[in-house]
Amino acid sequence: MITIAATAEAASEPRIGLSPETVKKLVQKGCRVLIESGAGLKSRFLDTDYTAAGATVSADAGEVRAGADVFLRVGRPSAADVSGLKNGAVIAAMLEPFGERTGLDAIAAAGLTSFAMELMPRITRAQSMDVLSSQSNLAGYKAVVDAAAMFQRALPMMMTAAGTVPAAKLFVMGVGVAGLQAIATGRRLGAIVTATDVRPAAKEQVASLGAKFIAVENDEFKQAETTAGYAKPMSPEYQKLQAELTTKHIATQDIVITTALIPGRPAPRLITRAMVESMKPGSVIIDMAVERGGNCELAKPGETVEHNGVRIHGPLNLAGEVAVNASSLYAKNLLNFLDPLIEKGADALKINWDDEIIKGTLVTRDGKIVHPALQLKG
Ligand code: NAD
Repeated sequence: MITIAATAEAASEPRIGLSPETVKKLVQKGCRVLIESGAGLKSRFLDTDYTAAGATVSADAGEVRAGADVFLRVGRPSAADVSGLKNGAVIAAMLEPFGERTGLDAIAAAGLTSFAMELMPRITRAQSMDVLSSQSNLAGYKAVVDAAAMFQRALPMMMTAAGTVPAAKLFVMGVGVAGLQAIATGRRLGAIVTATDVRPAAKEQVASLGAKFIAVENDEFKQAETTAGYAKPMSPEYQKLQAELTTKHIATQDIVITTALIPGRPAPRLITRAMVESMKPGSVIIDMAVERGGNCELAKPGETVEHNGVRIHGPLNLAGEVAVNASSLYAKNLLNFLDPLIEKGADALKINWDDEIIKGTLVTRDGKIVHPALQLKG
């Protein structure tokens, strides 16, 4: 019997990798599920919900770790997790593979097989396992809801007997999963929405959501998407043209949501101090890329900075602020990843090491960091 386990996450992480729904499915597949008491509370999952779904709840985190064949986690495992898991145990988590290296080395040195969910290939078969999509979608929604709450005006146009309230102008920079949901949410709230991206595919998606697309559409733009569907870093020449275009536009906007990212690199700098200074007092910027260095020069991780009356918010875990939905979807992503590896009644996962999904996400195995993108050069 395979034992699947989860302990409480770090204090700053409200999400959890097992939901009562996924516990039920895992138990039906013949697994034993162990979870630390209280681990789901910040996602509103009670110990009694887990027990009813068939899990064993234990107050002893050490016992949960020691029993795990598969350890499910939202963030990187803690030092206690790494030392408490048995040699050969499998971890599935958002490992921050491009983050601080010594933590990954420790996972490898402990003989743990680990999978980074962020590295899930963007192929059709893996869509239901794609944690970046499930979490970014909720984060894009929450960014707009937060911006609306910070903005001391209404978003929709209102014609009243006392006068007209103008519609707010909302600009979304970076139209991946988060940006698309930000556009949709902004439109639902009645804002006039414009958006920009460097990938041509974004143009049609923006239009289909009823927003206007603004971008420097030169030859470099036409080739900005990698085969994996992500953006390439743009040349200094392109960045200059992009800045010229967005400088004029930003000065007229009330709310800017930035989501622009390039895998494995710092976030592109899209909003300078001068651009912030061109905005009207009372405007709001939400920099969703702040954890990776920020799209806005003035954004600070986890803080709201005010500059000339413009507030720049740098949230660190927006999906975690919608923890109930975020955990449900994340746990489902993990279940969908594990499901093909579980044969009913088996004692260990059946892993096909040649599978594209396994190769794409495998970070450590047999004491080493094995992912090609994580090999140290020289
Ligand atoms: P991401 O989080 O890596 O980046 C966010 C957005 O920022 C992207 O749209 C990117 O093009 C944009 N960006 C990067 N540099 C920029 C710049 N200098 N200026 C403006 N914008 C910039 O992206 P994501 O949300 O992970 O989505 C990436 C792609 O993957 C999208 O095409 C998405 O539709 C696709 N996707 C595919 C699948 C699948 O098929 N399984 C699942 C999810 C997403």
